[in-house]
Amino acid sequence: MNLNNLRLTVSAPSSKQYPESDLPEIALAGRSNVGKSSFINTLLNRKNFARTSANPGKTQLLNFYNIDETVHFVDVPGYGYARVSKGEREKWGKMIEEYLTTRENLRAVVSLVDIRHEPSEDDCMMYEFLKYYHIPVILVATKSDKVPRGKWNRQESIIRKALKFDSTDDFIIFSSTDKTGLDEAWRAIEKFI
Ligand code: GDP
Repeated sequence: MNLNNLRLTVSAPSSKQYPESDLPEIALAGRSNVGKSSFINTLLNRKNFARTSANPGKTQLLNFYNIDETVHFVDVPGYGYARVSKGEREKWGKMIEEYLTTRENLRAVVSLVDIRHEPSEDDCMMYEFLKYYHIPVILVATKSDKVPRGKWNRQESIIRKALKFDSTDDFIIFSSTDKTGLDEAWRAIEKFI
């Protein structure tokens, strides 16, 4: 894949604006600040292609990134941001549910959690939702450089247990800082495209 050939196809608030395209889609979801933009930028070998919203939780848009006419990465706005109103949260829920349950192009969801912490209630709800709809998940445990390597297994077990992790899904330990897991993440994604 030519990673110099990247563009934002559309920022879509709802299904009417989804691109008319046959490209397979890989969606990316996680709570605000989990390292989702950094993950996308590391994968695409860019510094600032995917941006964290200056106002987390306010941007209720799905960003469709066209990667070399081969796949769309669909960047889902982060969840779990404390200062978001109930109305905004509901809007987010409707938007993501509409996408995940109706979009035929969707092949898998990269679900990001922070390796340092037990998954939040929102993380667990997201995973449960994806499994309920039989959507394959690539679980990415971010910021592994912040945990000593000797503790990775223990953190992985905590996360697997909390999510009731389906062992047919991929589990990838990742760091945008030192690029741990970069090849593994691409291999997992390429299985679905
Ligand atoms: P997003 O809100 O999920 O898009 O998160 P960002 O990618 O903007 O990252 C949130 C914060 O975590 C930023 O300060 C990043 O520099 C930091 N961060 C993201 N990934 C890593 C990582 O792998 N290692 C470390 N040490 N920090 C990271």
